[in-house]
Amino acid sequence: MSEIKKEVCGANYAAATVGYLSEFVGKAFLKDVLSLTAMEVSVGTLSPGEAAPFFHSHKQNEELYVVLSGSGDFQVDDDLFPIASGSVVRVSPAGVRNLRNTSDEVMRYLCVQAHAGSLQACTMGDGNVVEHTAKW
Ligand code: ZN
Repeated sequence: MSEIKKEVCGANYAAATVGYLSEFVGKAFLKDVLSLTAMEVSVGTLSPGEAAPFFHSHKQNEELYVVLSGSGDFQVDDDLFPIASGSVVRVSPAGVRNLRNTSDEVMRYLCVQAHAGSLQACTMGDGNVVEHTAKW
């Protein structure tokens, strides 16, 4: 089981690492270590042939799964579809979901959950271009 380690933080940021993603095994939740306030993010792995331990839904959070390696199946309610490295899957809170790895390699994925319907603006609709001196 890999761990997440906080590396640095400041007034407006926090950074952590799970180490090399290609060596990461298990599940790590980032909300607490990074003091996230609008989302939970986890890094997870499934061994060859393994499925997540349970189907689940959420009360109010939608989820985005980003498959980083491996391939397999994703099920939402009674719909089953293939996933592989590069797949991104959004699931509404009520969707009953699970995924399994049918490949011979470890499946690594990110899962981001955030309150459904809470996004007010995004990309440059929320961003400000700021003149600032680079330190590199
Ligand atoms: Zn979930």
